[in-house]
Amino acid sequence: MSNYWHPFSDVNAIDTKGEFVLERGEGSWVWDTAGNKYFDASAALWYVNVGHGRQAIGDAMAEQAGKIASYSNFGDAATPSTLELADLVTSLAPVPDSKIFFTSGGSDSVDTAIKMVRRYWTLKGQPNKKTIITRQRGYHGMHTGGTSIAGIPDNNVGYGDLIREVANVPWDDADELIAHIDRIGEDNIAALFAEPVIGAGGALFAPDMYLETVRKACAERNILFVADEVITGFGRTGYWFASERFNLNPDLILCAKGITSGYAPLGGVIASPSVWKTFAEPDAGIWRHGYTYSGHATACAAGLANLKIMIDEDLPGNVRRNEEYFAAKVKEIQSPLVDHVRSGVGYLAGIQLVDPTRAMELYLHCRSQGVLSRPLIGGALQISPALSTTRDEIDQVVALLNKALN
Ligand code: PLP
Repeated sequence: MSNYWHPFSDVNAIDTKGEFVLERGEGSWVWDTAGNKYFDASAALWYVNVGHGRQAIGDAMAEQAGKIASYSNFGDAATPSTLELADLVTSLAPVPDSKIFFTSGGSDSVDTAIKMVRRYWTLKGQPNKKTIITRQRGYHGMHTGGTSIAGIPDNNVGYGDLIREVANVPWDDADELIAHIDRIGEDNIAALFAEPVIGAGGALFAPDMYLETVRKACAERNILFVADEVITGFGRTGYWFASERFNLNPDLILCAKGITSGYAPLGGVIASPSVWKTFAEPDAGIWRHGYTYSGHATACAAGLANLKIMIDEDLPGNVRRNEEYFAAKVKEIQSPLVDHVRSGVGYLAGIQLVDPTRAMELYLHCRSQGVLSRPLIGGALQISPALSTTRDEIDQVVALLNKALN
């Protein structure tokens, strides 16, 4: 056993049963150290958008690291790959005239955004606007802020009080959300944080018009709308951002994962002009926030090479063209163990198990049969392959899952 303390792990169980070590990947497939081959049905943690083993990204990182691996971006300093990636991402985002504040990953993006929206309202002369509205089953990373605002109670046990000004509302009921806002009072609310498709909370698709309705309600009540696109950003729903697909016109977009397809840790908060221009007022002063690796040059070089692949191969288009096929095909996964399959938006699906308590056991069983999924909150198994996945590969993973679950 190694001395590695695994995230989200039962340390005792791993000490007893051992580790599962993957050493190689190509496209949608990975191999373990014993040479066994698996279909990576979850794209690791929803992030290997361009697929595994892309040498071009490794080459771009090596070239950047050989020149200058990174430098502090605090104040007015910067590295060229950082500036280039900022311009490219903001040109792809459905937010005209935006700026991006780089972070080291999704949790950083969430906590940066919590501080950004609170400081925004302070700069606007409304410091009481502090409460964050979020949805039950929502996941917003594991920093203190993200742990406080998420809607997965098990993740919030054992820490005492974290951020208190949070209202967690049902994930699928726009009227209920609006009633909560009106009860708390818009003068006390900073923002709504919402995933366009709930990921870790179960692969849950909002009811028709839900997102549009709550977005409009926020605009009418002077509440910022923050789209947590850490999963849905960079093509997963068939668009560069789900905010474009659902016409959300967000004040902030949070991103990470697909920005580099996981080849290097990187995230960002894309801010609309109404937000960033408030921080750019002559009397706004320095915002004393940032991370050592905000805009890390080598991570940004990975981002640039990754997005070049996505653009050259039109991977969002691949998802759009195959969306119906994928949605219908995964619904062919049927077994006495499966209650239903949720699909319909991009390369995102959840196999809802009849007995949610068996999700971990069945994930492990699928693994033994050559397919890597992941147990989600509520007892579903995740299917979210690389965006380069072909129809033929969709057929293969569905066959593998059908066999494993029967
Ligand atoms: N927000 C959402 C919607 C996520 O799914 C995740 C991670 O899965 C995060 C935030 C946190 O990202 P990270 O794990 O990179 O810190």
